[in-house]
Amino acid sequence: MLNKAMEEALNNQIAMEFSSSYIYLSMAAHFEHENLPGFANWMRIQSEEERLHAMKIFNFINDRGGRVVLQTLPQPPTEYGAPLEIFQKALAHEEKVSASINNLYGLAIKEGDYAAQVMLGWFVNEQVEEEKNATAIVEQLKRIGDDGPALIMLDREMGARTAEPAGGEEGGGE
Ligand code: FE
Repeated sequence: MLNKAMEEALNNQIAMEFSSSYIYLSMAAHFEHENLPGFANWMRIQSEEERLHAMKIFNFINDRGGRVVLQTLPQPPTEYGAPLEIFQKALAHEEKVSASINNLYGLAIKEGDYAAQVMLGWFVNEQVEEEKNATAIVEQLKRIGDDGPALIMLDREMGARTAEPAGGEEGGGE
């Protein structure tokens, strides 16, 4: 059984993952509007990944006999700056998510919840990837600066991102 403190903290993390999904989807809409379809594609896939993160915790709570409580999501920003600024925001957001996951992991240790520790271990690794990916794009955008053709080339590259193979992410149930 899941204890109450753990259940509440996991429900808060579900809200944070759905909120991340919503933010990236809003960024995808912005990039589409700006005719940068590659960046939009990257953000759409990112948004979907975040939804799957939420579902991973959703499944875990249910598997442990806990109660999932979905929360109200804040409205994501509607006005955006240059691509560099957007990816700096995405990176800052991922750093916030990492801190939240680390706190959850700490709580799981404090509560002696080994199953939660194993489940959250996946998220600890995932956050290393998320920060690495966002940092790489921020660095490339800094190099590009005002070079329009280079931005178009990066947009093409971002358009090549494909979704993770199905089944790997939603996990929990298997
Ligand atoms: Fe996430």
